[in-house]
Amino acid sequence: MSEVHKFLFDGLPVRGVLVRLTDDWREVLRRRSSSTAQGVYPASVQNLLGEMAAAALLMQSSIKFDGSLVLQVLGDGPVRLAAVEVQPDLGWRATVTLHGPVSERASLSDMINLHRGGRCAITLDPKTRQPGQQPYQGVVPLQGEQDEKLEKFSDVIQHYMLHSEQLDTTLVLAADDQQACGLLVQRLPVQGQDNLSGSSAHASEDGFGYSEAYQRIALLTTSLKREELLALDANTVLHRLFWQEKLLRFEPLQGADGPRFSCACSRERVAKMIVGLGAEEAQSVLQERPDIDVACDFCGAQYRFDAVDVAELFRQDLPHPPCSGALQ
Ligand SMILES: [Zn+2]
Repeated sequence: MSEVHKFLFDGLPVRGVLVRLTDDWREVLRRRSSSTAQGVYPASVQNLLGEMAAAALLMQSSIKFDGSLVLQVLGDGPVRLAAVEVQPDLGWRATVTLHGPVSERASLSDMINLHRGGRCAITLDPKTRQPGQQPYQGVVPLQGEQDEKLEKFSDVIQHYMLHSEQLDTTLVLAADDQQACGLLVQRLPVQGQDNLSGSSAHASEDGFGYSEAYQRIALLTTSLKREELLALDANTVLHRLFWQEKLLRFEPLQGADGPRFSCACSRERVAKMIVGLGAEEAQSVLQERPDIDVACDFCGAQYRFDAVDVAELFRQDLPHPPCSGALQ
C-alpha cells in the first residue's frame, strides 16, 4: 500500500516527508504497457517518471494548498513531455510523451536536456479560481549554478525550491518497476512556525544554530542510498538516518487518505474537446474514418464518438439553429 509519512524535527525549523508509491505506481506502468502501441517505458524513462511522481507527492504533501499540483518536464531530447498531476487528496496520475527511441541507460540530460533547452515547470491550480485568476506557475531550466547540466532529478527540484520558493530543500528520489520513493527535508522560515514553540536547546534566536542544524539534517538525508530508500520500510529509513534527532511523527497517510492512482478524464471532457475543435474539423475526421477515437494519455481509457454522437454534440452546442443559408 502506498504511504506518506510527515514529520517535524522537534524544536527546529525543519520538516520532512517520506513517500512510498507501490500499487499505484505499478498501476501507472501496467496501464501504459497495456494501452499504448509503444508498450513499456525504457528503464531510464520509467525511473525518471517514478522519481517525478515521488517528488510531486512530496511537494503536494508539504504545502497547504487546495488545488492540483502539476509537475512537468518539457524536454528537448527524446522525452518531450513528462507530467505528474497530484490532487489535494493525493490522487495522482502521470504520463510521458516520447519522440524517438530512448536508451535503457540514458542519462537525465540525454533524455530531457540535450541542447540545454529543457525546462521543469510546477503549476499550482486552485480548486476554485476567482474570475480572471491564472494558475501559479514556476519554471526553471535544467542547469545548475555553474550552468552545468543537472543529472539527478532531485537536483532539479532542489534548484527549483531554492530559486522559486527560497526554501532550502534536500531530496533523495529513487524508482524502479515496483516502487517510486522519495525523502524530503526542508528548512522552514523561522518566523511564525509553531513547531518552534516546543522546548529547544539546539539553536540560538539569531538563526545561526538553526542553519547548522539544517545542514546536519541535510547531510544525514543525502547519506541515504537509492537502494536503501527502495528496500527499507519508512520506520527503518527514518530511524537509521535520524536516530539522534527528536522526530515528531504524524499519522501516516495511506489507503483512502494516501496516494492512489486516479484519473480525472471523462466522456464529457472529451466531448468538450471535440466541440472545441469545431464542427468542420470534426466532420473532416469522420470523412476519413467511421469514429473519432480519443485515448486518455494518463489512464489509457478509450472514448469513441461515431457520426451520430458527433452530430448530437454540435446540436447541443448550438441551442438556436444556424441561419439556413448565405443568402439571408
Ligand atoms: Zn484518463
